[in-house]
Amino acid sequence: MTAPSALPASLAESQGIDFHMHSTASDGALSPDELVALCHRKGVNCMALTDHDTVAGVEAAAKAAAALGIRLLPATELSSQWRGVNIHVVGLLPVGVRGSLASGLEFQARAREARAEDIAARLEKLGLADALTRAREQAGELRPLGRPDFARAMVAAGLVPDIATAFKKHLGSGKPGDVKAHWPYLSEVVEWIVASGGVAVLAHPLRYGMTRRKRGLLLDAFREAGGEAAELVSGFQNPDVTRDLARQLDERGLYGSLGSDFHFPGGPLAPGTMSPIPRTAVAPVWTHPRMVTFAASLD
Ligand code: AMP
Ligand code: MN
Ligand code: MN
Ligand code: MN
Repeated sequence: MTAPSALPASLAESQGIDFHMHSTASDGALSPDELVALCHRKGVNCMALTDHDTVAGVEAAAKAAAALGIRLLPATELSSQWRGVNIHVVGLLPVGVRGSLASGLEFQARAREARAEDIAARLEKLGLADALTRAREQAGELRPLGRPDFARAMVAAGLVPDIATAFKKHLGSGKPGDVKAHWPYLSEVVEWIVASGGVAVLAHPLRYGMTRRKRGLLLDAFREAGGEAAELVSGFQNPDVTRDLARQLDERGLYGSLGSDFHFPGGPLAPGTMSPIPRTAVAPVWTHPRMVTFAASLD
């Protein structure tokens, strides 16, 4: 109710807000509490933990956030497919995991395991013997395997010089290790999020290598399925492109979200790091009616 901790009315004034970050519950380098501590140091006071296909880090993050006076929004970044493209959907979950999202997350965990076996078989043909074991060595015992673990295994085996090359040649979009068949359709993951009282946010719409027209079709399909927001800014992007994307969101009445997509320290990105957000008519996702309880949480 009171002004000091109210969230800003426009995306252009969103300093200190980051709705897209990863921890060791998926492919991030920092544990949930280390991530929250880093957010605190970087001046991020309102955050969503968006680990891939899981909310396993949320409880620990929430505890750490409460101790530091940071608003922590439960969330996840779900893998899906649309027209043969691997699309990521952030579920912002102000009331946590409810309804079909619970079984949806179990489905994702199994899909990720089955996919890892398929990726391993493909990489073995490319010369990475015992690929599954090697990826598991990179990941440690606890977390589900992702493509970055296979990328690191390829680097460790001397097959490629670095992670970027591993993705470029073997694991990135359209390459043999880009196995998508296990993921549910875009519309399904959106339905899970909505059934959980959440807001479905199309993650990093500029990172799918699509033309503007194709991106428009994706936004239409996403909206049709019940999606209500998209990331207007994800990490670093060209300001002219941001303005154009804002137009595409505005035309469809979609809310805007934003985040660094932070994974590990030492690179150009930190929590809260992202390109400037221009003044646009796009409403911030935290003003969505289903986010009101969250927006008021520290008032
Ligand atoms: P997965 O969730 O297993 O499909 O792996 C996707 C993740 O791999 C993304 O969320 C990024 O963290 C990482 N990734 C994707 N492309 C690249 C790239 N070109 N270089 C480094 N990491 C990447
Ligand atoms: Mn990732
Ligand atoms: Mn993503
Ligand atoms: Mn991400």
